[in-house]
Amino acid sequence: MPVKASDIQKLLPEGGKKNCKECGLATCFAFAMKLANTGIALEKCPYLVPESKAELEEMLMAPIKQVVLGQGSRQVVLGEEEVIYRHQKTFLHPPAFAIQLTDEEGETVWAEKIAKVSWQFERLAKVSRIDLVVLRSSSSSGDKYLELVKWVMAATDAGLILAASDAETLLAAYEVSKSRDPLVCVTAENVEAVAPRLDPNAAVCARATSLESLPGLVEKLKDAGLERLVIDPGSLKLLDLVRDQTLIRRAALQHKFRAFGYPTAFFAVDATPDLSLQVLLAAAAVAKYAGIIVVEDISEDLFQVLATLRQDIYTDPRVPPTVESKVYTFNNADQEAVVLVTTDFALTYYAVAGEAENSKQPAYLLCQDTGGLCILAAWSTGKLVPETIAEMVNKEGMAEKVKLKQLIIPGLVARIKGDLEEELPDWEITVGPKEAKDLPGFLHELKKRREGAA
Ligand code: SF4
Repeated sequence: MPVKASDIQKLLPEGGKKNCKECGLATCFAFAMKLANTGIALEKCPYLVPESKAELEEMLMAPIKQVVLGQGSRQVVLGEEEVIYRHQKTFLHPPAFAIQLTDEEGETVWAEKIAKVSWQFERLAKVSRIDLVVLRSSSSSGDKYLELVKWVMAATDAGLILAASDAETLLAAYEVSKSRDPLVCVTAENVEAVAPRLDPNAAVCARATSLESLPGLVEKLKDAGLERLVIDPGSLKLLDLVRDQTLIRRAALQHKFRAFGYPTAFFAVDATPDLSLQVLLAAAAVAKYAGIIVVEDISEDLFQVLATLRQDIYTDPRVPPTVESKVYTFNNADQEAVVLVTTDFALTYYAVAGEAENSKQPAYLLCQDTGGLCILAAWSTGKLVPETIAEMVNKEGMAEKVKLKQLIIPGLVARIKGDLEEELPDWEITVGPKEAKDLPGFLHELKKRREGAA
């Protein structure tokens, strides 16, 4: 749960009433507010007694640690979540999708799977990808596993997850791929042999076989000096997945149970050999807090479904989704095209854009910058009014782009027609339909009327 400024203030000098301003802020409460938003260092207050400082450090410590995997443009940030329910604030870091390759599959399958790591699915100006590659040793041959690790390292720059039960095989792969900062999967069986031989800053996935045995495994890793942890309670069924992930999130946030204060992993690949069921489980894991989700394989359409779900859950509910404010063209818009007007609120834009495309009529679509407001909200706040529309029409040079000079405004703001005619005297202002779904029929009628008049 986010820390309250009033709770911080109580631990500041003189109960938060000293107000000496030496921290650069006007009052102790202002300092507490900054601390609650992690915008200032504790050291800025010179009068903090050690006990209060220690208590504040504990209070301000992120309940779920941040773990960064991969490098460069392939970097994945996990953890740091602060809420149980998205509507309380927002979920911060979307789960990473991982695809698994095994050393028994061979180069043909490896190449097919690695090609999928290059997929890029763009939606709402964000690109979704398969983020990580799990390298699984299933052959019990150390050489075969190393061959897989080296092959994948040469084939992709995506982040790597090493999964081998044999300690020596795992450590050999870690040495080979250390430059790529892989996430090393460690279990209760190999933790004693592996943990002491990893670099202290190595990223490790603690893979337990049950929620109950997870804290013990985490403690062993921490005792070995390892802190960049991802935790996996080993859930293999849907109900266990939901229960385990929920309990981990609640324990970390509500009870500050440190052993669970890490991003989590869910290996759908271990739950069932059925690829469709793996995707269903992965969808549940997206909704229920998983940090890394591993599948054996996935088709492009199902990946897009998962990526859409992930994006929907991990958008900030406090910020409306937007598209770029600019002029969009449809159906080879030329001098004969009409000009439509809408806002940059993504849901409005996609509804209008889809129907503009369906109409098969050449059209320009002026997408006004309204900060992500729908038509009526934009109108009522002065962001979609005759002045702003005329300004965009002129700025974009629309008069030079079209012969017809026919501007179609949304039916919901029909009342601005008169004022807009005054702002744009050379244009014919037409009131369009209220609903985007009626746009194709409306444009066809308009075209028929034009042709009849000619
Ligand atoms: S320096 Fe410390 S005591 Fe002084 S106003 Fe800032 S927080 Fe309060």
